[in-house]
Amino acid sequence: MKETCREIVNDSMQALHALAKLMPLLTSQCSLTEMLETINRSLGSALAWVSVDDDRGLPRVVCAGDVTCHSFEVTDFLASTLMQRHHRSWRAIYWKENIGRSIFTAQHPGYSQLQSGVLCKLSSRDGSCNGYFFLGFSQRLCALPTLKNVVVVLVEKLKDYFAEMISRERTAKEMQLVVTQYKTLFERAPVLMNSFDRRNRCVLWNVECEKVFGWSMAEINLHPDPLALFYPDPEVRRRVRDSVNVSPLKDMYEWRPIRKDGTQLTILWSNILLPDGSILNIGLDITERKKAEEQLALKATTDDLTGCFNRSAILQQLQAVMERNQSYFCVLMFDLDYFKQINDEWGHQVGDAALVHFCDRLRELSPTHAALGRVGGEEFLLLLSETDCDAAMALSSNLRAILLERPMLVGDKSLILSFSAGVVEVGCGHRDTSSLLTRADKALYDAKRSGRGKTVIAIDYL
Ligand code: GH3
Ligand code: MG
Ligand code: MG
Repeated sequence: MKETCREIVNDSMQALHALAKLMPLLTSQCSLTEMLETINRSLGSALAWVSVDDDRGLPRVVCAGDVTCHSFEVTDFLASTLMQRHHRSWRAIYWKENIGRSIFTAQHPGYSQLQSGVLCKLSSRDGSCNGYFFLGFSQRLCALPTLKNVVVVLVEKLKDYFAEMISRERTAKEMQLVVTQYKTLFERAPVLMNSFDRRNRCVLWNVECEKVFGWSMAEINLHPDPLALFYPDPEVRRRVRDSVNVSPLKDMYEWRPIRKDGTQLTILWSNILLPDGSILNIGLDITERKKAEEQLALKATTDDLTGCFNRSAILQQLQAVMERNQSYFCVLMFDLDYFKQINDEWGHQVGDAALVHFCDRLRELSPTHAALGRVGGEEFLLLLSETDCDAAMALSSNLRAILLERPMLVGDKSLILSFSAGVVEVGCGHRDTSSLLTRADKALYDAKRSGRGKTVIAIDYL
């Protein structure tokens, strides 16, 4: 039996030496597991564990050593009848042999491997027991009373560390859990989330970003300036960068980045400055909503049949031009001649097609900045900015000529459309829309009265 005894516990001087060497190694910088491993190495123990009750009274167990041990084995052991048999007032107890049998089941290697053991209570500041420290050895040790004293000294030094480290490790575990939960949330949220570091490298790119933009994080980081993939215009890119780095946006702001397939998206972006100084961009893809809104707005301002502005939209345009108080502009009011007859002779459908034909020809001749609207059944209004009435008259003559040269074809027959028009030239300072329309109407009426197929310039009474 003697040869199996460890030197350290046979000689109290050596035990004190080992303890003196061990103490400086046990700093609060190392983890609890590292601390227990250092103790095992110095004292030759095969298993060391500590069990400390947390603030909710639940035991938190940390084990280290050649003999594998789980928390439940420790808690079961502490709750076992063997332990219950010991009187409450003990500080430290030891077992000479077969302690493995009390801790493990017969299938566990530790069952037969672990022989001697020392268990010491940890006491809190108020003196109550709030945990246990255990050392187990593969040998049957002889000088266990000495070892027991070594362990008591050790525990006295370490009890505060144990409690602090257990709580620190629990906090770290809880933090890790929170981080994992956030990461999962970031990954799966149906919201765009990304982050770029100061060197323009993408450091966060969630699943929604990949889905909406079509790029993976690895792909965008292959590009020397990833932002250029989304905003090819350097000026827009500069503004995006400023909004992220210089003055992060408080509210959601609309940007129009390009997708991998070249289509344009509409995204509402907002930035959040994180405590570590990095910026998290949060975005909402509103491309479809924007398209629907635009279509709705277009529908609300467009005449279904001819595709030009409807009555309220063209009157609004006129109002806007008047308010802008441009140098000068012209208004042309058109009315198709004898249109009722066309409907009567050719049918309503041909009448519809005739309205479209008239608008198409007029649009072809009009300058790009002109605005054309349908103000009534077969009545149209054309706004020509920075155009005098000579140019307006020329346009009207060209239209008449085109309608003659390229008549509307109905089967093998052709239909020449005739119109009358009134022209008003508006100088700066004229702001009354209704008097302007009255004058255009009057000129148009004059054209009708004097035989139709004519354009009359309104006399400026102002
Ligand atoms: P005038 O030369 O005096 O202008 O005679 P007009 O027949 O053109 O004028 P009137 O006001 O008597 O008739 C206008 C006709 O335009 C009556 C209406 O049926 C027709 N009309 C109005 N809107 C539409 C439309 O959307 N489609 C068709 N096919 N006809 C329309
Ligand atoms: Mg009419
Ligand atoms: Mg008419």
